Amino acid sequence: ATPAATMIGTSIGATNGVLFKGGDVLERVRDVDTVVFDKTGTLTEGEMTLTDVVALDRSAAADGGDPAGETRADGGGAVATAEGDESATLADPETDLLYAAASAESGSEHPLAEAIVDGAEERSLDLATPDDFENVPGKGVRATVDGREVLVGNPGLFEERGIAVDAAAEARDRLEREGKTAMLVAIDGRLAGVLATADTVKESAKRAVAGVQERGKTVRMLTGDNERTARAVADELGIPAENVSAEVLPGEKADAVESIQSDGSRAMMVGDGVNDAPALAAAYVGAAIGSGTDVAIEAADVTLMRDDPEDVLKAVNISDATLRKIK
Ligand code: ADP
Ligand code: MG
Repeated sequence: ATPAATMIGTSIGATNGVLFKGGDVLERVRDVDTVVFDKTGTLTEGEMTLTDVVALDRSAAADGGDPAGETRADGGGAVATAEGDESATLADPETDLLYAAASAESGSEHPLAEAIVDGAEERSLDLATPDDFENVPGKGVRATVDGREVLVGNPGLFEERGIAVDAAAEARDRLEREGKTAMLVAIDGRLAGVLATADTVKESAKRAVAGVQERGKTVRMLTGDNERTARAVADELGIPAENVSAEVLPGEKADAVESIQSDGSRAMMVGDGVNDAPALAAAYVGAAIGSGTDVAIEAADVTLMRDDPEDVLKAVNISDATLRKIK
């Protein structure tokens, strides 16, 4: 492209909240044939809300029996609150489960942790400060709460520690098919229940996916979240199941991008988090979205200033239009 075309494209971008970092970026954006979206915070709002608290009967849990009780946190039957008789409250399995998990999570800054803590506080639970808190990236947390060892996270975390998760299979299945993120909770080395959070798909994410596909480009989704939740969200957005990579650990996102590009594809990776920075750097074009972290913006070639995945189309349009006209 001529310097003039580059200048025009870059400045049109800037007035539209699309910052191209350097002149060659416009040309690379034009040549992108695959757009890889991070799920959480990019295609979804990234604001998780606690929706379900499922306590498993500890005796039944051993032989894979039915859940002891279940509470939908979103309206339905209410979780007992801390008001009233305290010993009765602690005897309630859902309340105790949420209390233990939320206390452990209060040491974490992960969006899932914040959803659990907020959910507990909304139910007037007084949380404990966890001892020897341990964060396991991409998997969950472990902490001691009132002398009890509490583990919250995904099946990978539980396998790692030899805790059987079969008794939670049914609840997990159902919650994940609803597009929710299910998290297992163990207390003192035994599976105690399942918590679920839901995130909302951004309205503009559907238009972004459709628009990119209409331009003949492949849309893919990358996430650390589990397979079923990822598929439910992808389905809602019109992303084919075979284009979804789930359960990708934070350190593996860059490898995943490289593997997508190993057939010669030129990928634009769109992400927001600290976890996404290496993947943004590995992609043919890295695009940081919205109020993304500084680390992500640093690693990116393009910054989409507004928190809007549809601005991917804007970036593509600007690069197409300016490079075509002035060539
Ligand atoms: P994403 O790539 O979608 O941003 P992460 O890589 O941060 O997700 O986490 C992947 C998975 O690990 C989550 O979906 C969840 O199952 C589990 N996980 C991570 N952090 C926590 C936490 N603090 N509490 C419970 N589960 C967690
Ligand atoms: Mg993320």
